[in-house]
Amino acid sequence: MTKLDFDRASGFANAALALLKRSQIPPFPVYFELFYTYATAANRDLNKSVNAILAEKGSIGIDDASTLCEKHLKIADMDARLRHMSQVMSSKITDVNHAIEIAMVTASSYSGSLQQASGDLENGGIDEDALKLLSSRLLKETRRMQDMNRKLEAELENTKDDISVLQRDLDEVRKESMLDPLTKIANRKAFDEQLEAEIERTVASGKPLSLLVFDIDHFKAFNDTYGHLTGDQVLRLVAQVLKANLRGRDMSARFGGEEFVAILPETDLAGGLNVGETIRAAVQSKELLKRSTNEKLGRITLSVGVATFRSDDTAATLVERADKCLYAAKGNGRNRVVAEHQLSENNGTIDVA
Ligand code: GH3
Ligand code: MG
Ligand code: MG
Repeated sequence: MTKLDFDRASGFANAALALLKRSQIPPFPVYFELFYTYATAANRDLNKSVNAILAEKGSIGIDDASTLCEKHLKIADMDARLRHMSQVMSSKITDVNHAIEIAMVTASSYSGSLQQASGDLENGGIDEDALKLLSSRLLKETRRMQDMNRKLEAELENTKDDISVLQRDLDEVRKESMLDPLTKIANRKAFDEQLEAEIERTVASGKPLSLLVFDIDHFKAFNDTYGHLTGDQVLRLVAQVLKANLRGRDMSARFGGEEFVAILPETDLAGGLNVGETIRAAVQSKELLKRSTNEKLGRITLSVGVATFRSDDTAATLVERADKCLYAAKGNGRNRVVAEHQLSENNGTIDVA
C-alpha cells in the first residue's frame, strides 16, 4: 500500500466517522461500512439515497441506516459470502485430495507387500521363522491399511456434511441473487432468464405469451414530496399488488427504478389487457397512509403497456413493443393501460376506443 492509498483510505474513514457522529449512529462495523462506502462515492445509488435523506431531514436516522444497509450492502455481502464459500470449498477439495493421495500410497505399498509375500510363499522353502516374520509383517501392513481406510472414510464423511452445508448456502445465495432486495420480488436478472425460457416454451407449444410493463406515474414528485423512504414503501406496495394479482406460472419482477414487469404465459393480448387493467385499478384504489404519522398521502397510479409474442420476436423486441405501449399510455394522460393493437404502427399515437 502506498502512502497515497493510506491517506485516501484514512480520509474516507474519517469522513465516515464524522457522518456517523453527526447522525448519532453508533460506529458498528456495518454502519461504518455504509458511510465509508458513501464517502468513497463508489456506489451511485447509495449516494443518491443518502443525499435524498440528508436533503429531506438533515441527518440519517438509525432506521434509515438499516434500510440503506439492507438495500445497498446486500450485494457486497453476497459477494463476501460467495468468496467465503469458494474458499471453504477449495480447502475441502485440498483436504480430500490429500487424503486420497495418502490412501493411494498406502494401498500401493500394501499391494507391494502382498505381492512380495505371495512370491515368497510360491517359491516355497520357507521355514517357520520366516513364515512368522512374514505373517507379522502382513498383519502390521493390514492394520496400517485398515487405519488409513478408517481415516479416509472419516474424512469423506466429514466432507460430505460440509458439502451439504455449502450446497444449502449456495442455493440460498442463488435465490437471493434473483431477488430485488427492496421489494423481494424477482429482479431484472431473474426476469431476463424467465422471459427467455417462456419464449422457448411458447415457440414450442404455439400457445400465446403476453408481457406487461408498468411504470409508476409522477413518482419523482411523490419522492420529492414525501421522501425517498416513503417512496420505497410505495415500491413495496406495488410489488405486493402485482404478486397478489398473478397466478400460476405468471411472474412479476422489478425491472429497475419504479418500473415493473409481468410475464403472462398462455395469455393472449386481451387476457394481458385484462390483467393490466385489474392491477392498474388495484393500485389506484389504495389510499396511502403514512403509518408513523397517519398522514394521508393520496394515491398513486400506474401506466401500463401490454404486448403479445409474435413468431419473429426476441425478448428484446417484445419488451420494446410493451415499452412503446407504456409510453403511449404516458403520452395519453397516464393511469391507463395501452395494448399493442391500440398502437398505430407509424406514429406512436394510440387508437383508443
Ligand atoms: P412518469 O410519470 O413520466 O413516469 O414520471 P416519473 O416522475 O415517475 O418518472 P421519472 O423517470 O422522471 O422519475 C422516476 C423516479 O423514480 C425518480 C426516482 O426518484 C424514483 N425512483 C427510482 N428508483 C427508486 C427507488 O429505489 N426508491 C425510490 N423511493 N424512488 C425511486
Ligand atoms: Mg420510469
Ligand atoms: Mg414513472
